[in-house]
Amino acid sequence: MTSVNFDPLRIRKDFPTLAQTVNGKPLTYLDNAATSQKPRAVLDAIDSYYEQDNANVHRGIHELSRRATIAYEEARGKVAGWINAADPSECIWTRGTTEAINLVAVAWGLDNVGEGDEILISVMEHHSNIVPWQMLASRTGATLRYIEIDDDGRLVLDDLDALLTERTKIVAISHVSNSLGTINPVKRITEAAHAVGAIVMVDGAQGAVHTRVDVQDLCCDFYAFGGHKMCGPTGIGVLWGRRELLDAMSPFQGGGEMIHIVGREESSWAAVPHKFEAGTPNIAGAIGLGAAVDYLSEIGIEDIEAHEREIVAYAMEKLGAVPGIRIYGPTSLDERSAVISFTMGDAHPHDISTILDSDGVAVRAGHHCAQLVMKHFGVSATARASFYLYNTKEDVDRLVEGLAQVAAIFG
Ligand code: PLP
Repeated sequence: MTSVNFDPLRIRKDFPTLAQTVNGKPLTYLDNAATSQKPRAVLDAIDSYYEQDNANVHRGIHELSRRATIAYEEARGKVAGWINAADPSECIWTRGTTEAINLVAVAWGLDNVGEGDEILISVMEHHSNIVPWQMLASRTGATLRYIEIDDDGRLVLDDLDALLTERTKIVAISHVSNSLGTINPVKRITEAAHAVGAIVMVDGAQGAVHTRVDVQDLCCDFYAFGGHKMCGPTGIGVLWGRRELLDAMSPFQGGGEMIHIVGREESSWAAVPHKFEAGTPNIAGAIGLGAAVDYLSEIGIEDIEAHEREIVAYAMEKLGAVPGIRIYGPTSLDERSAVISFTMGDAHPHDISTILDSDGVAVRAGHHCAQLVMKHFGVSATARASFYLYNTKEDVDRLVEGLAQVAAIFG
């Protein structure tokens, strides 16, 4: 149950993009797993930085640089609080989840993974949590192994102990699947991985958005997430890592900011987190993400989660009654986040999305960067409705009305 103060209709008013018509109909935005809309508070924070404080960080002695640096580092503290990191210095700014995963695969992976070692991921992963590990495996001679998924779209963990061996160096797993909505038992996986001496990287692109994340409680070693799916701007994300791992790692990229001393032949590195932040960072992006964290914190992640659960329960019931529909992923609401992937008879997901768009309803259609999931279910694509704090039951009704048109056209 959400608290009495939670009102999605009031929340919607904070999001300028939602107050528009598309194809002559009020916009129903159900593509939140791809990216969320941005509240006025975030847009204002970015504007205010560029209008009042625009300067490079950490380098200037002047007032604007001082202000920009304070805002930028305060934002780091905010994202650290969002995931309960022990210290803000454990949070490295990246371009997004993808870059955060690549950072670990390169900077940690090349020093710690060798021939004959194993990397364990799952069939459920977004391409961002597959391809960097394939690249690492091919560069090092390591083997990539997979946790399979069952027909309910859950990880098959019965043979986890067999998949984890003393050769397993890292397990990289999504917190929440972007294509199926499955919430994975990260803590269970972390405990099993640590028991064989492997470390765990969590792809939190869809996790930190919808649920309270406590990296200390999850006991993971790295947690990656991005700003744009949680009301923040694009081009900014966070890699959280355990301090001792980050301290021991080689840098990811070389350049300004990440050095201590530069000599002719070699250089030494700045302390964490700056060791991993070469070049001028996305200052406005970090400040915008800090504002998004403030905005979401004020509403409360527990209320957001409870609201989404209500919407998903309603959507599962209504969509489940649509003739010819097939919904992918877990049926239990305890195992499902705010994503519903579906197909409808012979209607191609692109046609479903086009018909819905003509009604102002925005959903995703395609493989959702999860081709291994599509392969498992024997489809090339699905349609995907994904919900967030500003969605309402009326949005679900409009989706279902649109699907009635799909049924009328495709029979
Ligand atoms: N992992 C998951 C589960 C995702 O859903 C996404 C984005 O959709 C990513 C990784 C990649 O995120 P980004 O493209 O923002 O780097």
